Amino acid sequence: MNQPAPSPTRWRAMELTEPGRPLQLAWRDRLPEPGPGQVAITVAACGVCRTDLHIVDGELPRAGYPAGPVVPGHEVIGRVRALGEMGEGAEAPGLHIGQRVGVPWLGWTCGACDACRAGRENLCERSRFTGWQLPGGYAEHIVADARYVFPIPERYSDAQAAPLLCAGLIGWRAYRMAEPALQGPTRRLGLWGFGAAAHLIAQVARHLGCEVAAYTRAGDAAAQDLARKLGAAWAGSSDDAAPWPLDAAILFAPVGALVPAALRAVRPGGRVVCAGIHMSDIPSFPYAWLWGERQIVSVANLTREDGLSFMRLAADLPLQAAVHTRPLEQAQAALDDLRAGRYTGAAVLLP
Ligand SMILES: [Zn+2]
Ligand SMILES: [Zn+2]
Repeated sequence: MNQPAPSPTRWRAMELTEPGRPLQLAWRDRLPEPGPGQVAITVAACGVCRTDLHIVDGELPRAGYPAGPVVPGHEVIGRVRALGEMGEGAEAPGLHIGQRVGVPWLGWTCGACDACRAGRENLCERSRFTGWQLPGGYAEHIVADARYVFPIPERYSDAQAAPLLCAGLIGWRAYRMAEPALQGPTRRLGLWGFGAAAHLIAQVARHLGCEVAAYTRAGDAAAQDLARKLGAAWAGSSDDAAPWPLDAAILFAPVGALVPAALRAVRPGGRVVCAGIHMSDIPSFPYAWLWGERQIVSVANLTREDGLSFMRLAADLPLQAAVHTRPLEQAQAALDDLRAGRYTGAAVLLP
């Protein structure tokens, strides 16, 4: 065995040296110190998100990849180890040493571009993302911008809290995007792709008075059972039809062919929300399927307000996160299992 001798400052990270290659274990010699406005965090758990899979597989635009290795992971739960200097004008983050916090996908914005000044920091032209351009949580230590970390509700364990950071939070933004179509006498929401995000958002939607239809891969009885257990009124395969027209649909599966399928399932005036960062091409379809003021929209990233409002909701509502934990070194195997659709719920790495 080629294990280096244990040392209090040696730590591990799982690195992507080139898109399309498997992750590699890397040892670091020095604990990362926070710069001005930053916070150093000892990682306790990190969720495995489909976006990590897109990053590792090289499916995101090449221009977004940094020059050096990428440490993925943007569903990071950990404890504050050190705080950098919070200079004049820095927003007081109210963080303290030992506090449990979470680090989400949106890790830095410029605050000066048109999008930022319009309150749409999720669309910042210069935004940087955790676990892509910024260090991620597939590691024992991370440094993050203190403005972009959230306190985590106490009722969740580290592993259960991890999926809230992206699956929950992006799901929440997607739900809010669907909400204008959910204001009528019925509140019928269809979720395509019943994985980490959908299983959390199904519970939120039930809590907010929706009837939920869950669409899974054909024959995925485990996901359909989980959906029913979490309160879905109907669960079936994406080729089947729910017993009623939907008011809104959210697509978590990265499959473009589901867009026209979802459009056909929503009533006139209904909305189809595409929640993924990457999707296969959408096949052409007759205009009649869009006609009737149906809408197709996408969700990009998150804002800090999404994070804070979702954590408030998660503090009040006992969300059940179905998590499968694995040791950090098995990050690549966890991604392979996600690619193959072997998880019901969310995978979480423990350092
Ligand atoms: Zn900006
Ligand atoms: Zn994610």
